[in-house]
Parts: sequence; C-alpha cells; structure tokens
Amino acid sequence: MEWTGGCLCGAVRYRATVDPIRAVNCHCWMCRRASGAAFLTHVHFPIGAFTWIQGEPMRYRSSAEAERGFCDRCGSTLTMHEAVLDDRVQVALGSLDRPENVRPDDHVWTKSQLPWLRIDDDLPRFPRSSSAVPSRAVEE
Ligand SMILES: [Zn+2]
Ligand SMILES: [Zn+2]
Repeated sequence: MEWTGGCLCGAVRYRATVDPIRAVNCHCWMCRRASGAAFLTHVHFPIGAFTWIQGEPMRYRSSAEAERGFCDRCGSTLTMHEAVLDDRVQVALGSLDRPENVRPDDHVWTKSQLPWLRIDDDLPRFPRSSSAVPSRAVEE
C-alpha cells in the first residue's frame, strides 16, 4: 500500500511505499507542546521505504535523543526522529492524506494524559514508554 502526506500549505510532501511498522498515541508534554494538540499520534515507516517528494521539514532538536520536523512555511508538525529508532521516520498522523487507514498500536506516557480526555479503545496503555520499542525518552 502507498501512503502519502504532507503539511497544511503543501510545501512539504512525502510518500511511503509500505504499511506503517507501528503507530503510537503519545500523551507526553513535549508532544503536546510541539503539536498544540491534546496528544500526538506518531506513525512509523521504515526509512528505506520513505521519500520526501517535495521539500523537507525544518528540524528542531527537542532533546539529546530526538529531533522534531515541521514545515518552515506553515508550521505544521510533521516528523519525529529518535536516535534509538534511526531505522524509521515517524510522521504525525494528521499529516497523512488518509489518517483513517492507520490502526494505532498503543498509548504511551499516559501518566501525562489530560484528565478530561476519555478514550474508550482497548489498546495497551503505558504510563511511560512502550515495551514494543526501545526508548530513551526522559521524564521532565
Ligand atoms: Zn507547509
Ligand atoms: Zn511524546
């Protein structure tokens, strides 16, 4: 399956030629701050099957272990690049053209989930990082 997406203004566009390895709903405060949303869903594609077809995100180093990509024209949240997961590109779910086709795997950093947010799915929930992937995310 082919997946495409990009930013709000269209200056940055990408394509992935395989299905996502993983998708995770992150409730950490940094994802909240970076996206401006209640939580941020990261969709992981293998780096070898992922191409920028127009433009490329500007990157901001948000911690010693990670960079976050955004469109330098419209500001859309686009990517997350973690040193410990350098085999993949993580795109923000909302940047996909067909986000409805993604099946998230779990919720992470639920200890920081907003108290008014009610989620009725049956996905695994992790107070901090998920056991599914290595992580060097730090608590602050
Ligand atoms: Zn843009
Ligand atoms: Zn996060």
